[in-house]
Amino acid sequence: MSDDFAALCANEPELAELRGAVRAFLSADHDEFGWQPTVDAWLSSWDEGFSARLGDAGFLGMTIPREYGGQGRSHLHRYVVTEELLAAGAPVAAHWIADRQVAPGLLAYGSEEQRQRLLPRIAAGRYFSAIGMSEPQAGSDLAASAAKATKTDGGWLLSGTKVWTSGAHLAHQIVVLARTSPVDPKRRHAGFSQFIVPTALAEAIPGSPPARSPNLTISPIVMMSGEHHFNEVTFDQVFVDDANVLGEIGAGWHQVTAELSFERSGPERILTTAPLLTALMRLLAAQDDLDDHAAAAVGDLLARVISLRQLSVSVARALAAGQSPVNEAALVKDLGTRFEQESVELAADLFSYVAADAPGHACVAALLDVARLHSPLFTLRGGTNEVLRGVVARGMGLR
Ligand SMILES: Cc1cc2nc3c(=O)[nH]c(=O)nc-3n(C[C@H](O)[C@H](O)[C@H](O)COP(=O)(O)OP(=O)(O)OC[C@H]3O[C@@H](n4cnc5c(N)ncnc54)[C@H](O)[C@@H]3O)c2cc1C
Repeated sequence: MSDDFAALCANEPELAELRGAVRAFLSADHDEFGWQPTVDAWLSSWDEGFSARLGDAGFLGMTIPREYGGQGRSHLHRYVVTEELLAAGAPVAAHWIADRQVAPGLLAYGSEEQRQRLLPRIAAGRYFSAIGMSEPQAGSDLAASAAKATKTDGGWLLSGTKVWTSGAHLAHQIVVLARTSPVDPKRRHAGFSQFIVPTALAEAIPGSPPARSPNLTISPIVMMSGEHHFNEVTFDQVFVDDANVLGEIGAGWHQVTAELSFERSGPERILTTAPLLTALMRLLAAQDDLDDHAAAAVGDLLARVISLRQLSVSVARALAAGQSPVNEAALVKDLGTRFEQESVELAADLFSYVAADAPGHACVAALLDVARLHSPLFTLRGGTNEVLRGVVARGMGLR
């Protein structure tokens, strides 16, 4: 493999070695614990035992410095690990938000006490977090958030309602964005702050500050498939002590938007359906009656995955080099999540070539069912694609 091509694939010798180690871990862990690969595993496949084993194996907290219990490696190392986890459809949901978003937020803005308290637990795969940003009247227009916190002795009183809070019912904490000063119509993004709100599950951990207030209510929002990932979270004068303010009061908007390029351009915007596509390709490889249409569809799918992956890796390299490729990250998310959606119908078309009695038919049918139910979500989470196109347009000078 040429050096240039290896670089586009995030497969230079050191990364290739890491890739091999993750694959070996996943193969052994799968054989021993028998988890089922799933599509959209990063939203829905919650397995705390898996997260703990991943942490013990040294594949979590990749970019967290060693002094806080992490691996002290680069964003590209983390990229390789997450890519392998998603390709395998491994049950990563429990640690996903804490590892992807909360740890970088703590490293950038957290107090020393917060870092020492939370980062080792996150890197160990034993501490899970939810993110409370969206509200009933504030999704794309996050600046319309109405949740507010007012100062009181030793802390803040938090009130408001958050929706679509993934995993809040299983998490140890929710990182909440709330107003700490009234709306200024000329500067709508000013006056926000972030708070770390422990849930009842945090109480069990020795050394934790007082946890769940009785005024914190987490109610399920059940999907039409019957799955429970989302929640509505209501705060009614919930006390949050000063030690749990994340970063600076008033700097919340800057804090939540600063890390978005990392969130938007990662392999999870391309590989959500990878377990379906891989399982399907294995079945198709065993068919001897594929026509030109099917062969062309397979070629189209693979060519798109390869080129999207190279775009995503290029953005990851720019981020690792300290650049801020906001537009490129938004474009990768738009292209990648549209590919994820389209891949579901392409897979359904190709699946019609597989004989109903072929070994593995039922498994692919089940993956396809889940992919169909989840595919509308792909282009919404992390900022809808329409809104991201607005970001790109403004980045190109549109006012
Ligand atoms: C799987 C999943 C997990 C999620 N997890 C979380 C979570 O853990 N925590 C959390 O806080 N939130 C979470 N969300 C919520 C997510 O951030 C919001 O759904 C998203 O920001 C869109 O907001 P909305 O649903 O209110 O839609 P709206 O903002 O009401 O948008 C409705 C439609 O209008 C379009 N639109 C809106 N504004 C514009 C504009 N300016 N230009 C063009 N089109 C526009 C949108 O693209 C969309 O198609 C999750 C969502 C999903 C799907």
